[in-house]
Amino acid sequence: MIRFKCSLTGLCCKASPITLQSFEEMLVSLLAESMSIDVEIAPAYTIYDALSNQWIALSYTLYLNDDNRCPFLSKNNMCLLHSIYKPFICRTYPYVPREVQYLVNSELKLIIPQVVYGVSTRCPVIEAHKPLISKYFEADANFIKEYMPNEYRAAMEAERARLVITTLLSNLWREGLVELMQKPPPMGSDRFINAYSLLQRYNPRLPYILGIHGVVEKIKLAKAAND
Ligand code: SF4
Repeated sequence: MIRFKCSLTGLCCKASPITLQSFEEMLVSLLAESMSIDVEIAPAYTIYDALSNQWIALSYTLYLNDDNRCPFLSKNNMCLLHSIYKPFICRTYPYVPREVQYLVNSELKLIIPQVVYGVSTRCPVIEAHKPLISKYFEADANFIKEYMPNEYRAAMEAERARLVITTLLSNLWREGLVELMQKPPPMGSDRFINAYSLLQRYNPRLPYILGIHGVVEKIKLAKAAND
């Protein structure tokens, strides 16, 4: 069977802003600082906490720079984050979350993520394989797993991480430490808190649970060496 193989055009790093999970925002901001790269990152999906009167950001948007390129894409189209920490969305591409919803159940005090993945036709490899994908994507449940195993695996990891964050946040809710509801922030608000930062206060082992402790240590060591 034909398998997906990235043709390294770098097109996906110029296509659209990059969505980051909350802990990825922390990692990417630290990496940008340690590399002296200017980045613009803004909260994307947020949930209101009535107890602290702030919005908990579950995801963020990393904007392309003025040249419509990811700020971490080098002049020769190499990803500067590749060997340290590459965001999930970059590892799953062109298998990407098409729809991300967080269902907020106030009765059970539960946040349930619902994510629908699809294949991006902006990728030239996908465009070339379009007949094959159209034929099998919906008809064969194992197709994606076999066609793009690395990207599929990364998507599974991404969803596991998302579930860790929403489960821990739901736990805080049930413990009465937050009071969550769906309410969009007013224009211009700066009352945001990163979901990962909030959860880490109550779960110091969170970097280990998410498997990012090694990356965090590496970034801290690099920063200490530069200071
Ligand atoms: S982080 Fe790397 S792979 Fe992701 S869009 Fe930027 S340059 Fe491309």
